[in-house]
Amino acid sequence: GGGAVDPKNLKVKLVLLGDSGVGKSCIVLRFVRGQFDPTSKVTIGASFLSQTIALQDSTTVKFEIWDTAGQERYAALAPLYYRGAAVAVVVYDITSPESFAKAQYWVKELQKHGSPDIVMALVGNKADLDEKREVTTQDGIDCAEKNGMFFIETSAKTADNINQLFEEIAKRLPRPSA
Ligand code: GDP
Ligand code: MG
Repeated sequence: GGGAVDPKNLKVKLVLLGDSGVGKSCIVLRFVRGQFDPTSKVTIGASFLSQTIALQDSTTVKFEIWDTAGQERYAALAPLYYRGAAVAVVVYDITSPESFAKAQYWVKELQKHGSPDIVMALVGNKADLDEKREVTTQDGIDCAEKNGMFFIETSAKTADNINQLFEEIAKRLPRPSA
């Protein structure tokens, strides 16, 4: 392959997929800026945000996070969006069975068209809304197991499990050899 890959300082493209309104942008802003703004209509647009984390073995992982808004509506453009992605985070809202069905659609799409060694995470967001829950934790676990994905429930609102999500992804990345 071209270019030098430093196995101690990884740089990875991460895309978020899922229905509009499940909290993708809020997850990104919570992770990158430590903020949650319930009123903002976040559209990061064509650019991306990045955030670097350090693992215990002193490896660093720089996530280049793609969170374009259009992919929800223009499914045909999605392959352009997740092309070359090392990580796909598929998000649903635990209060929305429709969003869970859509998440399963995205998982199938990624299996068909994504990079063969892509790391996939299934994320049930809005875990703070447990009283309105309509997708059980077990449903999420089963779906993830069936598809060889990492599973976690998060809340961008309370920050619950947001850092853990990205740390677990980082641990699962294939390591280039030195
Ligand atoms: P996106 O379309 O998937 O990017 O969703 P957004 O990040 O724009 O969030 C959609 C709506 O859900 C906003 O009104 C957010 O305030 C709300 N939201 C996002 N994450 C959470 C969460 O973890 N808990 C709750 N209660 N609301 C959330
Ligand atoms: Mg968004």
